[in-house]
Amino acid sequence: MKKFQSPKGTRDVLPAEQKYWRQVEQVLDSLARIFGYERLDLPVFESTALFQRGVGTGTDIVEKEMYTFTDKGGDSMTLRPEFTAGVIRAYLENGMASRPKPVKLWSYGPIFRYERPQAGRYRQFTQFNIEAIGEMDPALDFEIMSAAWQLFSDLKFRNLCFQINSIGCPACRPGYMEQLKAHFRSHEKDLCGDCRNRLEKNPLRLLDCKKETCKPLADRAPRAADFLCKECADHFETLKRYLDSMAMPYTVNPRLVRGLDYYTKTVFEVWAEGIGAQNAVCGGGRYDGLAEILGGPPTPGIGFAAGIERLVMTLMHQQIPVPETGRPDVYVACQDPKAMPEAVRLATLLRQAGTPAVLGFGGRSLKAQLREADNRGARFTAIIGEEELGKQAVQVRDMTKAVQEQLSWTDLITRFRRPRD
Ligand code: AMP
Repeated sequence: MKKFQSPKGTRDVLPAEQKYWRQVEQVLDSLARIFGYERLDLPVFESTALFQRGVGTGTDIVEKEMYTFTDKGGDSMTLRPEFTAGVIRAYLENGMASRPKPVKLWSYGPIFRYERPQAGRYRQFTQFNIEAIGEMDPALDFEIMSAAWQLFSDLKFRNLCFQINSIGCPACRPGYMEQLKAHFRSHEKDLCGDCRNRLEKNPLRLLDCKKETCKPLADRAPRAADFLCKECADHFETLKRYLDSMAMPYTVNPRLVRGLDYYTKTVFEVWAEGIGAQNAVCGGGRYDGLAEILGGPPTPGIGFAAGIERLVMTLMHQQIPVPETGRPDVYVACQDPKAMPEAVRLATLLRQAGTPAVLGFGGRSLKAQLREADNRGARFTAIIGEEELGKQAVQVRDMTKAVQEQLSWTDLITRFRRPRD
């Protein structure tokens, strides 16, 4: 019979990896609290038109990567390939515009893109996403970037590289696009097929083509920063001054454009070393025109998304210690199977007191139970021996020091009681 496997580009997060996820999730949760972001949960699928309009039909995401299906009512739906369009949809639909600005929201969950899978690139992956909506001030761009900084410093990452750029606004970008097209048109025969196709529709994308033939042309291309209007140039300069004043290191990368249509002004990415070609752990930017594209009033906004799988890969690659999870405090064993009813009661009482406790099943020898306690990483084993039977007492064995003492159940439960959150 056919053996089932997880679909291509998806992965199971096995128990051994969970401690890294837990670490990342705890850091994200406290980050959102410290920076004053409120949680917003969104549907996993939305109407296809939302992404076509919001993300843009000329983008890889919309052209090639969406999981789109027609539902039984005949409507076209798409599994979300990113958060921002959905966040702005929810912001407009739920009247959040009447709240004090900026409205600061965070979301977390699975994202779906039909991409070519490789290490660090999946078809289902998980994003943490934050958005600050309704404010133009470059101090907000700084705040969003400093949230990314704090995320990575709280995770204790080393060797990170912050890349920033400004790609202008509807006032200055068209002029820049013309210059860009002219540059690439004059080298059209040297471009890869993808770039030739994108040249007229989305020339910005040619700047981040990874093909060796296209890279030198992208390096010599006109730079967005040289074509910014006064407002965009001032915005970018102010942001850089904030970054400098807080000694946050960054590189201005004129080839950083990011793959979505909605970005304006500031764009940024954070790259981690050593996790392979897919090294962007976080990316974001400003999208001052998005709310209007989605039928709302002009509403500026800025945000970023970080990929959790890549954060977990970085934690593992950089061998950053994280707290162990799932280790029981107490393994309850019995020397003779006739003590089992007492062992069942004791394990229940320990758990009711909030103590992670594991019970030895199956009437095996004490030696086998101690081996299991060791394999499960139990800190202590409570043994109901011949002597303790019927006396509400146990021998407590410290599994690292291999020393033992007799305790009453009451003392044992008091000693290991854990307050619950
Ligand atoms: P993007 O929306 O493409 O800028 O993605 C934001 C972040 O999500 C990236 O910096 C990655 O960390 C992560 N990410 C994007 N695409 C994938 C993917 N296919 N697999 C895993 N993580 C991804």
